[in-house]
Amino acid sequence: MALFFKGGEQLYQEALDAIGRKDYDAALKKFQDAKEKGYDPDGLCMVYVSIIYVGKNRNNVRGYHHLLENLHHTNAGTIKFGLTSFETSDLATECELAIMEIEASNMSKDDYVNKGNRLIEVAGQYMSRIGEKNLKLDEIFKGNTIATGNREALILQAEAYSILGKGYVRTDPKMAAEYMQMAYNFRKQLGDSGDEEMQLSQNFARSATCWICGRPANGQGIHFMAMRADIEPVFQKMTDNDVVKPISDDSRSVYVCMPCYTAISNRSDEVSRVYYERALADMRAMEARLQAEISSLRFSMSMNRR
Ligand SMILES: [Zn+2]
Repeated sequence: MALFFKGGEQLYQEALDAIGRKDYDAALKKFQDAKEKGYDPDGLCMVYVSIIYVGKNRNNVRGYHHLLENLHHTNAGTIKFGLTSFETSDLATECELAIMEIEASNMSKDDYVNKGNRLIEVAGQYMSRIGEKNLKLDEIFKGNTIATGNREALILQAEAYSILGKGYVRTDPKMAAEYMQMAYNFRKQLGDSGDEEMQLSQNFARSATCWICGRPANGQGIHFMAMRADIEPVFQKMTDNDVVKPISDDSRSVYVCMPCYTAISNRSDEVSRVYYERALADMRAMEARLQAEISSLRFSMSMNRR
């Protein structure tokens, strides 16, 4: 059992080697053993241990709190984790921002105004406190240097404006369309298509007049719906001078505001339910009649056999 004779310093070195091999479970064990043998240079054993735990669950706020606390207990400046070198103070900044980001992301989307604004605030901090520098935890655990403070800020802003757009559409579709447009711009800067945001922005901005009640409505799919209908040219012509049309461009659907739409579909559900229940009752009566006939047939057959 050679392990018994290993000194703390050797265990510590073996732990660093294990990190180099990405054998993090072995590294955890060896750091703890080194610390138990009294070897913990500048409190780094626990720093490394808590970095590994953060890597195991990047969405756990407690992991970042532990790492932050351990970073406050070390005087080490630059340290290495595998091939990645970084300032411990930069890592502390990343932890603080990660905590803020996770807490903002965990807010309910019903609280969209606060959630959106909070995400925008966190984005601002990523820009000012990390900027063009890359995120070290991403380099360590994802093996790339693509994620920078500025890129993370774009991601957060895209998300924030999308949340604001989807929230505001209930009360103010015009404003919601503008927020979705901003979310689209951020997605584009990230190199994404932004198709979903663009489509929603266009839908939110679209206006219609309800064919049934004549009320204006903004926000297709939210505050008004297109319903398939037969619209003869005589009716199409009547809408020629309408600025806000009650029919679709291809004249195959009428636009109906959500209150009219839901009133019709609720009533039609009720009517269908009555028919359905009536049909079901008829079927059960028929089944009972057939069962009775089968029973009487069986009875007469058994009588004939005697
Ligand atoms: Zn209506």
